[in-house]
Amino acid sequence: MSKRSTSDFNISTQITQLGRDASKQSGFVNAPIYRGSTVLFPTVDDLEHNRAQFNYGTKGTPTIASLENAWSVLAGAAGTVLSPSGLGAIALALLTTLKAGDHLLMPDCVYRPTRNFCAGLLAKMGIETTYYDPRIGAEIESLFRPNTTTLFLESPGSQSFEIQDVPAMTKVAKAHGVTTIIDNTWATPIFFRAHEHGCDIALEAGTKYLGGHSDLLMGLVSANEAWWPKLREMYDLMAMLPGAEDCFLALRGLRTLHLRLKEAEKRGLEMARWLQMRPEVLKVLHPALPETPGHDIWKRDFKGSSGLFSIVLKPEYTKAGLAKMLDNMGIFGMGYSWGGFESLIIPFNCGEYRTVTDWQPGGLTLRVQIGFEDMDDLKTDMAEGFDRLRSVR
Ligand SMILES: *Cc1c(COP(=O)(O)O)cnc(C)c1O
Repeated sequence: MSKRSTSDFNISTQITQLGRDASKQSGFVNAPIYRGSTVLFPTVDDLEHNRAQFNYGTKGTPTIASLENAWSVLAGAAGTVLSPSGLGAIALALLTTLKAGDHLLMPDCVYRPTRNFCAGLLAKMGIETTYYDPRIGAEIESLFRPNTTTLFLESPGSQSFEIQDVPAMTKVAKAHGVTTIIDNTWATPIFFRAHEHGCDIALEAGTKYLGGHSDLLMGLVSANEAWWPKLREMYDLMAMLPGAEDCFLALRGLRTLHLRLKEAEKRGLEMARWLQMRPEVLKVLHPALPETPGHDIWKRDFKGSSGLFSIVLKPEYTKAGLAKMLDNMGIFGMGYSWGGFESLIIPFNCGEYRTVTDWQPGGLTLRVQIGFEDMDDLKTDMAEGFDRLRSVR
């Protein structure tokens, strides 16, 4: 029997093998970091016929290609390109599918900087954006116009955690020739198979769980067969690449992505259930909890949940109490990114920017990321925070 190859193995085995080849690395386990602008051609003939795997730094390096190829396999995509941030990936995806005069549909729960991109850049290009209720499902069809070319999805929604009926929405989009893009950052391809659920383009802020250590910024955009050549073309036009070091770190993160996500899921759920029992908490917004709206769709479509969710406090608590709670946390830090090893908590208010859905959660809201600290320490930190919250009335 011949030696089996990477594609014969299950995905968790594959992600330990993809994007590296010890036989070409002097036997070392990991691929080296290639940095460079100039690529040398051995002959005039090679140069004139552009015969080289890589021909210039902006067209990629072995380090970039390793991560792109590994991600395509993981995401089940025809191809992947990288960008220097998750927001850069969003811009790249939208600029690939849209042109002047087009109409775009965006969920009202979308990551706020995506909204700013539509208002600040797409509007200038003559592209109109309509926001929709993320729970609209197949009825999105009623918002299609003759010039609607792109339907953007994000599930669960940033901060508010609505789950979208992705298969129903991609089905009607396909029937109308509308291209679908999904921001799949929360679930990653490990927990949500975006392309298998009909999305043409899927993007990931690798800044979050792929990096996993709060020390890099990275975006990844993957496409199906139909969109891959156009995505690659737009990427080559703009030449916005991540740095070599960041690609190396993302490849390192990839090796343990599935393990960290499974652990984040377990810990996130344990904390979410603990918070559900707390008298200060009105409700927990976590798609893997049966009490959270959209749970049935999550259960049907997702393979797991990550460690980021939100809570709504009971209405009697004040912003002053919340400040006293959050200013004095011992473990939970306050900061915007997530997906790292450390626990985080931030207050938020979707009502500040939503335009087509009413955000009336019933109390002050907090987004929580559960890291890898001891669970009892985390619960103690949170319980002491709640004591401070209650002390201000
Ligand atoms: C963080 C985030 C992004 C943007 O990633 P950056 O690398 O910080 O630009 C995009 N989408 C979602 C859902 C995010 O949480």
